[in-house]
Amino acid sequence: MPNISPQVQALCDDMVALRRDFHRHPELGFQEVRTAGIVAERLRALGYTVRTGLGKTGVTGFLRGGKPGKTVLLRADIDALPILEQTGAPYASQHSGAMHACGHDAHTAMALAAAEILAKEAPALNGNLFFVFQPAEELLTGAAAMLQDGALDGVTPDVGFAVHVMNRIPAGTIAVRSGPVMTSADKLSITVTGRGGHGANPHSAVDPIVAAAQVITALQTLVSRETHPLKSAVLSITMLKAGTAFNIIPDTVEMIGTLRCFDAELRTSLLASLKRTAEGIASALRCTASVANEFLTPAVINDPAATALARDAAGKIVGDDKVVEWEPLTGSDDIAYLWERAPGCYAFVGSGKPDGSPSPAGHNAKFDIEESSLAIGTDFLVRAARAALRPR
Ligand SMILES: [Zn+2]
Ligand SMILES: [Zn+2]
Repeated sequence: MPNISPQVQALCDDMVALRRDFHRHPELGFQEVRTAGIVAERLRALGYTVRTGLGKTGVTGFLRGGKPGKTVLLRADIDALPILEQTGAPYASQHSGAMHACGHDAHTAMALAAAEILAKEAPALNGNLFFVFQPAEELLTGAAAMLQDGALDGVTPDVGFAVHVMNRIPAGTIAVRSGPVMTSADKLSITVTGRGGHGANPHSAVDPIVAAAQVITALQTLVSRETHPLKSAVLSITMLKAGTAFNIIPDTVEMIGTLRCFDAELRTSLLASLKRTAEGIASALRCTASVANEFLTPAVINDPAATALARDAAGKIVGDDKVVEWEPLTGSDDIAYLWERAPGCYAFVGSGKPDGSPSPAGHNAKFDIEESSLAIGTDFLVRAARAALRPR
């Protein structure tokens, strides 16, 4: 059984109620008005200096400790997903087409509980608390929007911690890892242009559909043939738009996709290869290709020192044998932008069935968490923050 601090235990009922309230009222990225309102109100009542409207709906709370020292940043994401919930839970979403299917309701409740516990200890703390409640993580643009609005102006965080629930590991385990843990994300847009014509007279047209098909096939070689076998990347073409009728060769084909990398240099070289391949293949088939990419977020890199503190905190709660080294994930999270400002550790708190039997993963309409993970995640944030501020 996890060893949950009494301060966290005392807040368990409130935390579950709060998480369920957020779950009933999910709000999509940059629309988290109700959620942000509750967060701001609670932080103010606890004595934090609160800023709102950062990156539209982001909230920060700063609290100076009794003695000088470092500043620890604790982050929660607050947005939901455009999914029609199918859990049948009594606390299921009341907003059709929006659902907390990634557990950000849990993250928000955990961070608020941690804010309450740490605020009571603030007079005795050597250093300061800085909470970041970030919108639009699912769009991968909320953190940058907050930073652009000056969310970190006047604050210099020395270290950061955050948790994400994960149903693939049972409640009662915590996954911690140093170094790259999640990939960078680029949105790719490729347009192949030919010359439209009659479907029965391909020789008098220039067919961009056949060219686009070859481009897609050739792009499969970028990871398999151009990337070092021990490095990893993902290149997926996920949308294709072309044509209007069975007898018309269209002028253009539009493709959308994504590139994910752990390594910034590899990302740069793959983007160059992508352009070269698309343009070259299209040109060989008398078409042109234009390639654009939108850089959404860098890779999430966990700081070794912060990770050591996190591992220690996790072990004290769930026992060292339940602290697992999780494999890096090819998903992305724009907490990466915050970790560029505050060397941090993003940990994964097991929220799956305690017996290890499978439960729907994040972004599934039947996703739900083991609520015992709430106390574990909160205790982790509290203990990691305390450890980071402890004078040594
Ligand atoms: Zn998600
Ligand atoms: Zn998430």
